[in-house]
Amino acid sequence: MSSIPQPIKNPEIKYTQIFINNEYVNSASGKVFPTINPSTGKKICDVQEGDKADVDKAVAAAKEAFKFGSEWRRMDASRRGKILFKLADLMERDLVYLASLDTLDNGKPYKSALGDIMFSIHVIRYYAGWADKVHGKTIPVDGNYFCYTRHEPVGVCGQIIPWNYPLLMFSWKIAPALALGNVVVVKPAEQTPLSAIYAASLCKEAGFPPGVVNVVPGYGPTAGAAISGHPDVNKVAFTGSTEIGQLIMQASGASNLKRITLELGGKSPNVIFADADIDIAVEQAHEAVMTNMGQCCVAGSRTFVQEDIYDEFVKKSVERAKKRTVGDPWDLSSEQGPQVDEEQFNKILNYIKIGQEEGAKLECGGQRKGDEGYFIEPTVFSCVTDSMKIAKEEIFGPVQQLIKFKDINEVIERANDTFYGLGAAIFTNDINKAMMFTQAVKAGTVWVNCYNAVNVQSPFGGFKMSGIGRELGEYGLQQYSEVKNVVIKIPQKNS
Ligand code: ADP
Repeated sequence: MSSIPQPIKNPEIKYTQIFINNEYVNSASGKVFPTINPSTGKKICDVQEGDKADVDKAVAAAKEAFKFGSEWRRMDASRRGKILFKLADLMERDLVYLASLDTLDNGKPYKSALGDIMFSIHVIRYYAGWADKVHGKTIPVDGNYFCYTRHEPVGVCGQIIPWNYPLLMFSWKIAPALALGNVVVVKPAEQTPLSAIYAASLCKEAGFPPGVVNVVPGYGPTAGAAISGHPDVNKVAFTGSTEIGQLIMQASGASNLKRITLELGGKSPNVIFADADIDIAVEQAHEAVMTNMGQCCVAGSRTFVQEDIYDEFVKKSVERAKKRTVGDPWDLSSEQGPQVDEEQFNKILNYIKIGQEEGAKLECGGQRKGDEGYFIEPTVFSCVTDSMKIAKEEIFGPVQQLIKFKDINEVIERANDTFYGLGAAIFTNDINKAMMFTQAVKAGTVWVNCYNAVNVQSPFGGFKMSGIGRELGEYGLQQYSEVKNVVIKIPQKNS
């Protein structure tokens, strides 16, 4: 642990304003909103509250930066890559500060926040490298024509992000968009605006021209809705709940048929067979659902355990959950901090109550931890059945559901019996079972003998109501370009 840089426990809040055209400005309305420290429930500071008028300004600035002949449109693709590399270097310079901001604002353990920032840097460098490597084709069409395709940027991209991974979600969104020459208007979540607002200053320092990156903090139904319904926004990328994803898709369709990418909720099955290495499976299943206080769209929140090992698995899972260290997120030994806000905290405690009322067996946890902040004890339910609410709905908290199954055919059917389809995992040493499962399960990512192995190079996204489109990897780039087909009449073709 000695190699971990010490956190800044009281990071100075350098910026709290809206960022448009490379300048920090106050909201048009003069309104502000508080951002709260979830470890204490106390206000950290007020932040300028963006609304429609501010979104309009940001979109106008982005549109101007994107117009034909602008500095950004004339810039070499390799130069865009260099600016992104610079941004990654600046984030690395400010690694401890950024991680400290996310710990303060979100409550996540500082060690996890450091991991988030390092992954953010990795994502930005990955896409920086792509900037001058995305290109079209020449196509041998019929007739005397020369035909080629251009992969052009989509234009003004609205990017609405959640609170569970504040700077990481900011980076997942802006990096592919900017690599391909788009301009962005980002709305961070109202619970956790601070790291994105600060990162805006790094975008300026890195050298993005004014208007290329804009950040408008504010609430969803106001600032967020102004983005998804804006006639001059060409694309919206959203990560958040399925309910809001549906609203965003409606608003996009009703306004101007924006291109959309949606990364939404999940109730991901994690299937443990009797032939798996049980200790590894227990640990992985625990982390699959407890990581980030359970506030993870791809959480393995339905743990199916084969009947032969069910009792042993329950016992070991409970022992593990009881050992989980919950407390001060600045403490390097804390595995779990508070939930992000009072609303989430109450929602989770309510699900725990519902689980008990439905007849699931509360094996451990189930209570608030301490009397300050939004901490919840790691909770394990056994005897969970598929029809229970806690087995169907996204809890987004440190609550594990252990469900019994008999055989592979049955568990595949049950795993797929959900509107969601984000992640899935299987633990087995039988290659045939693993292959059958990976092919049959309806999920955007399937893990075998591991969980949460999310990589920058490979796609992430959902089947069914878990989303549309993919982020990360080469697939993530496709969502940020329009293909233009150019056909030129020529006197005579020559193959
Ligand atoms: P959660 O329920 O986990 O807080 P949400 O889906 O509500 O997740 O929020 C994710 C992001 O979507 C946040 O930035 C939030 O402000 C934004 N948002 C919420 N409601 C809307 C809306 N009606 N239109 C656009 N964005 C919204």
